[in-house]
Amino acid sequence: MNCIFCKIVSGEIPSTKVYEDEDMLAFRDLSPQAPEHVLLVPKKHIQSISHAGQEDLSLLGKMQLKLAEIARNLGLEEAGYRVVTNIGSDGGQTVDHLHYHLLGGRSLQWPPG
Ligand code: AMP
Repeated sequence: MNCIFCKIVSGEIPSTKVYEDEDMLAFRDLSPQAPEHVLLVPKKHIQSISHAGQEDLSLLGKMQLKLAEIARNLGLEEAGYRVVTNIGSDGGQTVDHLHYHLLGGRSLQWPPG
């Protein structure tokens, strides 16, 4: 499959890993939008949360908790941080493999553009 994040998961494309287990991989975004910008992806190819099903319930729950753990490990918990997942073209999704952006290290604006 010609999916850039599947290639990162398989190691075909290098990444700066932040966390890995049998279900998921976290790595640094190539084009960081904040001092800390990490992407968390499932190893299983799921296009977006709109394409996830009941069978992904446990995986998605584990990913949510892992995001909080990664943020804690990066020292972001006290000041706060943001978790975002973009879906489809209006949502600004450019890579069609589910990923959560974890952004922190500066004050983030709201609403996003
Ligand atoms: P989105 O626009 O929400 O689909 O996010 C895709 C993100 O993937 C962007 O923030 C890109 O900077 C990031 N990205 C694309 N290619 C790579 C790569 N090879 N390694 C790390 N991050 C990447």
